[in-house]
Amino acid sequence: MSEHEADVVVVGGGGSGLAAAIEAATLGRSVILVEKNPALGGTTARSVGSITASNTPHQTAAGVKDSPQDHFNDMPLFAAKWMPRSDNEALRRLLTENVPETVRWLMSMGVVFFGPLPEPPHRRPRMHSVLPTSRAYIYFLGRRARELGVDIRLATRARRFVVDNGAVKGVVCEGSSGTELTLFARGGVVLASGDYSANPELKAKYISPRIASVAPVNPTSTGDGHLMALELGSRVLNGDVFPFYIRFSSPSTKKLAQLLPPWRVITKSMKWALDNLPSGMLRPFVMDFLTTVLAPSPKLFTAGAILVNLKGERFTDETKDASDALVDQPEHAGFIVFDQQIAKRFSAWPYYISTAPSFGYAYCQDYKRSRKDIYHEAATVSALADKLKVPASALENTIKQRPNGESTWRAPFHALGPVKILLTLADGGLDVTDRLEVRGKNGEPILGLFAAGSVGQGGLLLEGHGHHIGWAFTSGRLAGRYAAHRVVSPSAS
Ligand SMILES: Cc1cc2nc3c(=O)[nH]c(=O)nc-3n(C[C@H](O)[C@H](O)[C@H](O)COP(=O)(O)OP(=O)(O)OC[C@H]3O[C@@H](n4cnc5c(N)ncnc54)[C@H](O)[C@@H]3O)c2cc1C
Repeated sequence: MSEHEADVVVVGGGGSGLAAAIEAATLGRSVILVEKNPALGGTTARSVGSITASNTPHQTAAGVKDSPQDHFNDMPLFAAKWMPRSDNEALRRLLTENVPETVRWLMSMGVVFFGPLPEPPHRRPRMHSVLPTSRAYIYFLGRRARELGVDIRLATRARRFVVDNGAVKGVVCEGSSGTELTLFARGGVVLASGDYSANPELKAKYISPRIASVAPVNPTSTGDGHLMALELGSRVLNGDVFPFYIRFSSPSTKKLAQLLPPWRVITKSMKWALDNLPSGMLRPFVMDFLTTVLAPSPKLFTAGAILVNLKGERFTDETKDASDALVDQPEHAGFIVFDQQIAKRFSAWPYYISTAPSFGYAYCQDYKRSRKDIYHEAATVSALADKLKVPASALENTIKQRPNGESTWRAPFHALGPVKILLTLADGGLDVTDRLEVRGKNGEPILGLFAAGSVGQGGLLLEGHGHHIGWAFTSGRLAGRYAAHRVVSPSAS
């Protein structure tokens, strides 16, 4: 067993952990960051990568007048699905007031954004799309952390805390070969270990046994930090909140965007082109970036598209809770079926098929061109059924009997899928103070323990695009700063 000491120890090398490490190191503190996977990234690197903020240089350039207060007021408009329940207003304030600076901080490291893009019910365009994909965050933050001398230990998994007199003094970790390593933290430990969408027991406990069977997007989001803190008497807030969407699978072959390095010369040229060239010219190129598991917009269903299972049968009112109903269908999978009129409508704002890296939104023609593996079109319903490998008679029957079946669908017929139900995240976070200290028994802060990102979400509702990433980086920076400030005289690094 070996032992090491640093001012700040960070558990997790996704967005929040890298932000915490960089902030503490910028303040002159020595930092060790442990990441259980062989590479940095976490869910952050699998995300679409949008970040939502007011008062950004992009808003200023576009003449958008906005404020953190307006952003604060608009956020609950997205969380209607989860109401009535308590939100964490103090953390919402922390996010909306600090995320403008976070965007500039990310830009200062080389991250390039396109935007601001509209996303009602936000009253102003606030969404910013990272170029070319969310891997850029990890590339630039990983580079900055190394430049600042952060000691990054990959394939090293935190297992339990070192506790002395109720205060956290460090973390016991396990290396890939099973060797034990104790990391002592003079200032504090920042938990930045992501969420528990891949932990069946925690999902069953906080969400429901039925949802526990749904596969996560990130199979390594096992809630380790939650479990470690629960052992110290901490509690999970809003544990049953989970963004739960039908999702398109990611492409089976690597796309250009996954091969392209996120170098500034490339992303700056992309931004220039996005700002200056007609979108028709660029979309074929940029939409090659539909690389992650994207979620179809519910507007498709309100416009009349239907969701059928692998037997070609409709099984729910899609406008209510299609995601939930898909849980009980074979392989948790289905197809979204629609006609030419709907296809035509979903070819321009505000009728988008999904959000998308770079441009922010993707339309029918983008999917048709860039996701041939999941876009199907045929002159007749029976020919479409053949392409989907579902029984033709069942699909014909389903289409005849759909709501508003009397209104005619026009050929050609279209389908997107298979779509699957995947758990994007589990939103339950540890109870934290507004200085991101983890609360333990009796609600008292546990000395020396901070949390950020999903594990430090503290009951904050982050519905809407771009709030989770905003929270990961913002809370990471702040938690790293507060942990660093607990070291009165920084040690020489
Ligand atoms: C498909 C998809 C698209 C999304 N798109 C968006 C979007 O466009 N905008 C948005 O705002 N949000 C989006 N999100 C959500 C967003 O990506 C996450 O909320 C955010 O990245 C979480 O950051 P994090 O740092 O808390 O966790 P992570 O990025 O998951 O980082 C946690 C890290 O901790 C490591 N770890 C865990 N346990 C241990 C341990 N015991 N020891 C050491 N290391 C450990 C993990 O391996 C991981 O690397 C999306 C999510 C998904 C799945």
